[in-house]
Amino acid sequence: MVLDNLGSSLRGTMDKLRGKSRLDEDDVQEIVKEIQRSLLQADVEVDLVMDLSSNIEERALNEEPPGGTSARDHILKIVYEEMVEVVGDSTEIPLEPQTIMLAGLQGSGKTTTAAKIAWWFSKKGLRPAVIQTDTFRPGSYQQAKQMAGNAEVQFYGDPDAEDPVKIARDGLEATEDADVHIVDTAGRHALETELIDEIEEIEREVNPDRNLLVLDAAIGQGAKEQAREFDDAIGIDGVTITKLDGTAKGGGALTAVNETDSSIAFLGTGETVQDIERFEPDGFISRLLG
Ligand code: GDP
Repeated sequence: MVLDNLGSSLRGTMDKLRGKSRLDEDDVQEIVKEIQRSLLQADVEVDLVMDLSSNIEERALNEEPPGGTSARDHILKIVYEEMVEVVGDSTEIPLEPQTIMLAGLQGSGKTTTAAKIAWWFSKKGLRPAVIQTDTFRPGSYQQAKQMAGNAEVQFYGDPDAEDPVKIARDGLEATEDADVHIVDTAGRHALETELIDEIEEIEREVNPDRNLLVLDAAIGQGAKEQAREFDDAIGIDGVTITKLDGTAKGGGALTAVNETDSSIAFLGTGETVQDIERFEPDGFISRLLG
């Protein structure tokens, strides 16, 4: 059954429907309210929560459950389908030579994610290289180098260089024999013109196959503006949510995916290079509703 790991409160409400063959308006409203509460708590944007819940409500009241389906299973299916509609499938990441560029604010987890994605590709039998172009954050070179070492993948960076575009160019040349290039970029504490200009320039030089936006699971309502700015600047093809091992439920990712018309690629679940998973809708939806 879909949504096996529902949170206890929504599960309790759903379980009250056991044995019922039809839902009345009160049942539906109670469930929709629970869903709204869970999604808002998970930091899903209010407008999105309202859209989702009105779709669920309308379908639950108007669609006849197919013969033999209980009212409970019917509404669970509707909830699941409506959530999948927004969450989408995992971003397509073909196992072939390609260049992936990471974008995001400082502290979102880009450098860690670059090494993790490289590790993930190396486990799939490809030869990745990490190119570190962050000349802004002190220590980023050392950190990236060490993490690439942990992932046992090629690394290029230049602690003395000041021009990220040049580092990107030199890095691609120096790691020519790698087949997957992961280009890490500098963030800033906030969205600034300088950051956007810089990433546009790197993007022009690197010409990536995929741009992934890296978001901290705790981002919340700030996700919308970040997603919009980065999407306008370079086009976002997928989102990676980090720090899902913490308490945050990652609802900001939904906002970002909705805003950029993209999908979720990877989930970060810890500080080491192995702590990465490909996104899979079921578990994530259960987490949001939990
Ligand atoms: P950047 O500034 O975007 O490059 O961010 P970093 O990669 O340096 O990450 C910022 C902090 O978050 C570091 O202390 C990382 O160890 C930590 N971090 C990154 N990803 C995860 C994750 O999935 N889980 C946890 N618990 N910490 C993470």
